[in-house]
Amino acid sequence: METIIVKFTEDTIQNNEKIKTAGKIIREGGVVAFPTETVYGLGADALNSRASQKIYAAKGRPSDNPLIVHISNIEDLRKITIEVPEKAKKLAARFWPGPLTMIFEKSEVVPLETTGGLQTVAVRMPNHPIALALIQEGGGFIAAPSANISGRPSPTLAEHVIFDLYGRIPMILDGGLVGIGLESTIVDFSEEIPMILRPGYITKEMIQEVIGEVRVDPWLVAASEEGHPKAPGMKYKHYAPKAQLILVSGVQERVQKKINNLVKEAMEAGKQVGIIGTDETYLEYPYGIVKSIGTRTDEDTIARHLYKILREFDDQKVEIIYSEYFLTPKIGQAIMNRMLKAAGQQVIEV
Ligand code: AMP
Ligand code: MG
Repeated sequence: METIIVKFTEDTIQNNEKIKTAGKIIREGGVVAFPTETVYGLGADALNSRASQKIYAAKGRPSDNPLIVHISNIEDLRKITIEVPEKAKKLAARFWPGPLTMIFEKSEVVPLETTGGLQTVAVRMPNHPIALALIQEGGGFIAAPSANISGRPSPTLAEHVIFDLYGRIPMILDGGLVGIGLESTIVDFSEEIPMILRPGYITKEMIQEVIGEVRVDPWLVAASEEGHPKAPGMKYKHYAPKAQLILVSGVQERVQKKINNLVKEAMEAGKQVGIIGTDETYLEYPYGIVKSIGTRTDEDTIARHLYKILREFDDQKVEIIYSEYFLTPKIGQAIMNRMLKAAGQQVIEV
């Protein structure tokens, strides 16, 4: 299949013919990759079961892993849900469009192929002009998981989508580097007390400020591979680079010393070694391929560059990556949730 790649600049989004073409592909049951503020999505008509199935096929995604339905208009929530609780309306008013996904009981129009067989549906309104225009042109309901081959880090640049899906889908919309770089926070409203199923840019504290009590899926807190997370996708070994990732946690100077020792050992054993540091520390690592993920004074930069860096190490055939630990105040929990998974929970404490 030929893949058309469309590059956008900020002033080429309004009334864009290419977005209309992309919308037509979606209305006719095809798939299109597009940027959102979190990561790139692989979109298809959420109300068309065969279109949803194409997403699973293109990604190699397990069929029990439900898709998030993206809308561009709050009124459209009514069509795909049975009931929207007051608290959810409050969160939507505060955080939509934005990196928050909410789960509701689904209405009949949403096929089980979209929800991985569940009677609930996950919904989000993304905060990105290309995504919003595409949803409108595409009929209002776009099912879209991250636009990567299952198991690879989520794409934060169109180049990542091209690498994974070129030749497998008809069109990729290129909006440059995404703003946030981590997948949305997921809150489940299908239970009495709302529950966070996946941490993201919108933190528990931010949600509590608006609606009071929220719980966190106990599976996330235990940070173990045992039991079942409520979001089926969280059980898969996601976000993984090809290299082995090992996190080193502790007082900064000791972390640097430990990483330098580990790097030397691995290099002596003939391995290609990568290091993830920050703007503040990367000069302290004399050996191996060193990358700064961002600055500790602006945690958003760390989130934005994580997946990009993991993919760069793959390109450079790095076999083992040592990384600093980033338990930053606001989104540190979301960042570490992804990093711990990518690392298979391997942490060295110093
Ligand atoms: P992705 O779009 O690739 O970020 O994956 C979507 C995430 O949302 C996966 O972890 C899914 O398991 C989760 N999800 C989507 N729909 C539901 C649902 N109805 N119930 C629970 N989790 C869901
Ligand atoms: Mg994904």
